[in-house]
Amino acid sequence: MKIICIGRNYSDHAKEMQAEVPAEPVFFLKPDTALLKDGQDFYYPDFTQDVHYECELVVRIDKVGKNISEKFAHKYYSQIGLGLDFTARDLQQKCKEKGLPWEIGKAFDQSAALGNIFLDKETLPMESLSFELRKNGDLVQSGNSSDMIFNIDRIIAYVSQYITLKTGDLIYTGTPAGVGPIAIDDLLEGFIEGEKIFSFSVK
Ligand code: MG
Repeated sequence: MKIICIGRNYSDHAKEMQAEVPAEPVFFLKPDTALLKDGQDFYYPDFTQDVHYECELVVRIDKVGKNISEKFAHKYYSQIGLGLDFTARDLQQKCKEKGLPWEIGKAFDQSAALGNIFLDKETLPMESLSFELRKNGDLVQSGNSSDMIFNIDRIIAYVSQYITLKTGDLIYTGTPAGVGPIAIDDLLEGFIEGEKIFSFSVK
C-alpha cells in the first residue's frame, strides 16, 4: 500500500505558502509506515520544532489501474475519508531552499493520520463536499472540494500515468488555507459535511 499526496491543490493554500498555483498536479509519496490510524496518539517527533497540520480529503483506491482516463477514474474509488498530512515545516522549508526532495519533512512515521470512517461517495455531494478541522474545539481549516484546482478524477488520471494504482492505496488530495502548528496536548478533530471522521491527540 502506498500513500500519494497532492501538493498545492487549493489556490488559497498555495498563496499562503507563497507558492505558484501549478499547471499540473504536484504529488509526493509517503510510505505505509507513515500511517496513523484514528484512535492512536500522535507523538511529536524530536527532530522538528514545527509540525503543521494539513487537513485533506482522502480517496481510497478500489482496484488496480494504470493510465486511467479521467472519464473512467470514478470507477476506481467508491469511498472518501479525511486525514492529516502532518508536515515538519522547518525540515520541509530547508529542503525547498536547497531544491532537495521533501521526504524528511513529509514522510516520517505517523505523518499520514487517517480517520477510521470512510463515506460512500454515492451518498455525498462530491462536487461541493465540505470538510473542517477543529483544533481544541476552534475551527482552523474549512475546505470544499469545489475549490480544488485538480479534482479527484483528474488526480487519478494524472498520477496513474506514472505510477500504477493498487487496491488500498490512499490519495491525500491537498489542503485548503489555514495550515498551522500543533503542540503537545492539542486535540485535532476532522469533519466531512458536519460528520465527525477523526480525532487525534498530540502527545
Ligand atoms: Mg498536504
